[in-house]
Amino acid sequence: MQSVKTGYLFAHVPIVFITATYDTDSQNACWEAGAADFIDKPVIASTLIHRTTNHVENKLRLEVLMKLTYKDSLTGLYNRHYLDKEVSNALKQSEREKKPFSVLMIDIDHFKLYNDHYGHLQGDICLKQIADVFANSIKRPHDVAIRFGGEEFLIVLPYTDIEGMSHVCKQIILQLNESNIEHSQSSIGHVTVSIGGVTYEKQGTMELNELISLADEGLYCAKRDGRNCYKLQVV
Ligand code: GH3
Ligand code: MG
Ligand code: MG
Repeated sequence: MQSVKTGYLFAHVPIVFITATYDTDSQNACWEAGAADFIDKPVIASTLIHRTTNHVENKLRLEVLMKLTYKDSLTGLYNRHYLDKEVSNALKQSEREKKPFSVLMIDIDHFKLYNDHYGHLQGDICLKQIADVFANSIKRPHDVAIRFGGEEFLIVLPYTDIEGMSHVCKQIILQLNESNIEHSQSSIGHVTVSIGGVTYEKQGTMELNELISLADEGLYCAKRDGRNCYKLQVV
């Protein structure tokens, strides 16, 4: 029997089989098809309710734990662990579908000066405000914002070409202008970011790390060109 867990829809759904056959082969077939559990016929209603309730409760507990594992506690964005575990799969899926896949690497400008002037605690508040700007700048269900390290962030945009990636960069810069988070040590007077981006257009097989390095090169160019700007490329 084919596993019901291979499709996206049921991959994380606990499935309880109801079976009238008790032999080993039938029971094995249930497990191999991805069963979380099975119940013999005739079904006793209270057993069905208790079993499914237990599975739903365990699933909810697991979701809470996954959230803790995958989220950065300061900003609420996804963390490096999520990047390592989930984003490579998203890239492979894009390659299979021959769809563009874009990655942005973002770094806050003159953040050391910000911390030195306003203090580390205020620096943390600032990080959270900027993370909120990133979260608000991405709209599609597959888009993810990740805290990559201290004051560096990644935005991953599956199914997005360079125009889409450029739109997200403009949104971030616009929203940061509007947020106007004071930074008296920066010549602009408010907090800004520099962004490097790469769109991968389906040739060959590219590793996620290579894409991140290319986005990082763009970020380096944006810093060199005076900060508060973005540099994008297609590969
Ligand atoms: P540039 O424009 O070239 O990026 O300059 P910069 O000062 O932002 O760059 P640099 O990498 O030298 O400094 C990064 C600073 O980010 C250093 C550290 O004080 C600060 N930082 C990193 N992680 C955290 C954090 O979790 N909280 C706070 N408050 N500051 C952090
Ligand atoms: Mg940095
Ligand atoms: Mg910086």
